[in-house]
Amino acid sequence: MFSYRHAFHAGNHADVLKHAVLVQMLDYFNRKDAPYWVIDTHAGAGLYALDGEWASKNAEFEDGIGRLWGREDLPALLADYVREIERYNPNGRLRHYPGSPWLTLDALRDRDRLRLFEMHPTESGILAGNLDKLDRVNLRQTTIYATDGFEGMKALLPPPTRRGMVLIDPSYEDKQDYRRTLTAVKEGIKRFATGTYAVWYPLVQRREATDMVRGLENLQIKNWLNVSLTVKKPASEGFGLHGSGMFIVNPPWTLHAALKEAMPFLTKLLAQDERAAFTLKQRAD
Ligand code: SAM
Repeated sequence: MFSYRHAFHAGNHADVLKHAVLVQMLDYFNRKDAPYWVIDTHAGAGLYALDGEWASKNAEFEDGIGRLWGREDLPALLADYVREIERYNPNGRLRHYPGSPWLTLDALRDRDRLRLFEMHPTESGILAGNLDKLDRVNLRQTTIYATDGFEGMKALLPPPTRRGMVLIDPSYEDKQDYRRTLTAVKEGIKRFATGTYAVWYPLVQRREATDMVRGLENLQIKNWLNVSLTVKKPASEGFGLHGSGMFIVNPPWTLHAALKEAMPFLTKLLAQDERAAFTLKQRAD
């Protein structure tokens, strides 16, 4: 169950889409003074070395962030994201990659809060160790739970600020994750209807994956956005990730326009074959 290690995949095409969207959403949350909470149900280790043993094994980042690195012609949403990654690579060489907790901490103001769930003991240990090196403000505003994020998030909703975002980013190695993600969003909305929920999902040849996305689109909610990026044709043997998507409940209203501008560019840049494509849908009241 615990074989998943995000370091293999850090900075790959799926992280690019997920983190570019995350950075944009945080920027939108910061436009208002009112404090907010971010709940990250599947936090990972937080920081990754791209030249480390894990990440360099398949060098997935080379076909992800590597293709955006050093470009000066990026649409705004992608330029904002790359600027964040640049902070971790000040000498211009791409060697470090921040995960969702660090991208979030970079955006939070002192009054905002971050709640992280990471169930894998090794990963949560690394996460806690990384956090210990940060300043006191970051330590005070962050809590790590080495427990199940699907279960744990419920007790935190609604956040005391009544403003917040939940990032649900499982590895889906366990096929129950599809069902549990859909249930988590439903339960979340019951407790905190005005919250923003961002679900990452893989494009894989699995019925559970398509059923989950259909289930999300059929929820009785007025505002959602669904963006997906295919980078290559599905493998003939049926395994592997040929793309990914982000489904967002109560998205910032600016996100659709930003993605409409960025996705054609991103699709061309990250294409691995002629089947590369994107979809962008929304329901807005
Ligand atoms: N959100 C991270 C980011 O963007 O940098 C990446 C997270 S990675 C895709 C998924 C993580 O969830 C793994 O580190 C895994 O150990 C952890 N995990 C798996 N099942 C979990 C559960 N039920 N609750 C909390 N964490 C879980």
